[in-house]
Amino acid sequence: MINNELAELYQEVILDHNKNPRNFGKLEHYNHYAKGNNPLCGDNMELFLEIENGIIKDIKFNGSGCAISKASASVMTTLLKNKTIEETKKLFNDFHNLVTSNVNTSYDDLNLGKLSVFCGVREFPARVKCASLSWHTLLNAIDNVTETAITE
Ligand code: ZN
Repeated sequence: MINNELAELYQEVILDHNKNPRNFGKLEHYNHYAKGNNPLCGDNMELFLEIENGIIKDIKFNGSGCAISKASASVMTTLLKNKTIEETKKLFNDFHNLVTSNVNTSYDDLNLGKLSVFCGVREFPARVKCASLSWHTLLNAIDNVTETAITE
């Protein structure tokens, strides 16, 4: 993908998921939960997960934040249903590598699908925290950490 196409796709995905966030709200039945906060931007997030036999059966997020934090959480939830914890942690690592890698590093080999559009945040370090908030909150939710995940 050339840069212009990717920039367009980035805008498209962020706008779409910000306007119509997927899996937004609270789960009635959940056994994993965590809160996240990105003080730099003022993004707040809650994650609800129903995990059964090591598989994410259901996931929802709730909260208020900027378009990037919301879109990132929305895209994340669409990818995680029926994933194992192991697959989820691998996705976290791939995503983390993507958004923190050098701007010139190719993302094509990472095979991240829709997530690859978030490499657009690499040029804006403050935005990396917005995009990563949901993922850090996710790790805490898997371990049921009671403290709020802070992006510092
Ligand atoms: Zn933000």
